[in-house]
Amino acid sequence: MDIFQKCYEPSLAKELKAAGVYPYFHALQSRQDVEVMMEGRRRIMLGSNNYLGLTTAPDVVEAGIHALEQYGTGCSGSRFLNGTLQMHLELEEELGKFLRKPGIVTFGTGFQSNVGIISALVGRHDYVICDRENHASIYAGCQMSYGKMLRYRHSDMADLEKQLQRVPEQNGALIVTDGVFSMGGDIAKLPEICALAKQYGARVMVDDAHGLGVLGEGGRGTASYFGLEDQVDVYMGTFSKSLASLGGYMAASEEVAEYVRHASRPFIFSASIPPANCATALAALRHLEQHPELVDRLRSLSLYARKGMTDRGMKIRESALNAPTPIIPIYTYETYHTLEVAKEIYDRGVYVNPTLPPATPEGEALLRTSYMATHTEALLDEAMDIMAEVLVKHE
Ligand code: PMP
Repeated sequence: MDIFQKCYEPSLAKELKAAGVYPYFHALQSRQDVEVMMEGRRRIMLGSNNYLGLTTAPDVVEAGIHALEQYGTGCSGSRFLNGTLQMHLELEEELGKFLRKPGIVTFGTGFQSNVGIISALVGRHDYVICDRENHASIYAGCQMSYGKMLRYRHSDMADLEKQLQRVPEQNGALIVTDGVFSMGGDIAKLPEICALAKQYGARVMVDDAHGLGVLGEGGRGTASYFGLEDQVDVYMGTFSKSLASLGGYMAASEEVAEYVRHASRPFIFSASIPPANCATALAALRHLEQHPELVDRLRSLSLYARKGMTDRGMKIRESALNAPTPIIPIYTYETYHTLEVAKEIYDRGVYVNPTLPPATPEGEALLRTSYMATHTEALLDEAMDIMAEVLVKHE
């Protein structure tokens, strides 16, 4: 049998292309901003993770240009060997101070961070316990680890407790959860999770890809939002969202970080973050520290959008209804309906991300909209009017 057989067979992607509703790979001809030029036309961007709008901040752009000139285009090696720049150490030190965790390890991407952290920490006799709606990179880390993975229903604390009870006393356990869920926009129940972890002797890891720069004091993330910084053992985060660059990190105690530096294959056997990305992540972090008001602005715009959507009759996924996060999922339910609606909204000048099963439960397809601190109320009104008109028309 030809291993490529599957590539020639019918698929959902082929079916959607034939039906003219394929929604992926639209190309931009401009910067990632609140309005973009995409496939030759202005579109309001309601689908970016550039939550603080820092991809275009002059100080951040300038830092990238300067690093490129000073250090060249790439590091051509791992952090472990020839690929450590002084600037990587500066980024790790400043991030550690900001997050109030002394042990920082940086990785090439957020995806690689989850893979690198979980595969290093979860050994042959350990258990890793995941919320079902955790990001795909967490699952990839679990698959790469030699431990056993257990899953609990989304934010269901009774089910989490049931899974914890399955772990034999002599085995270690790591509970891993998104801080802010990437599709739903809801916040993990960290107080309950930390209490259960304490009761059962487990450790807690939070993927704060969508929490950094968004929640907590000065944008320090989900643990800070709940005042639980001491009880979350490991934070994972990314530089590709609020910090407007590329790369990812782990933040933990120095002992845990030092262990991961010497045990994580995705860290040891992969090139370090290139100079321009390292410099822009650092500049964006400094920008965030100097402008905590951006976090407040993001929160108030997100609440403005939540109210605007509800007032216009759009149905927001319940779990995200009152969460002060910049991710707002609008239910459209059925796959084809979702794609038709997304296409018409796109044709009328607004970019949103249609999210389909298996990324959502069957029959719960949605439009994932996301907001930036640099949006204006006027832009959001324009976009929400278009979305509401299209949704009503297709009802
Ligand atoms: N974790 C979560 C929760 C995410 O949403 C993402 C990106 N969508 C990642 C990890 C991976 O981050 P990166 O894009 O930096 O690889």
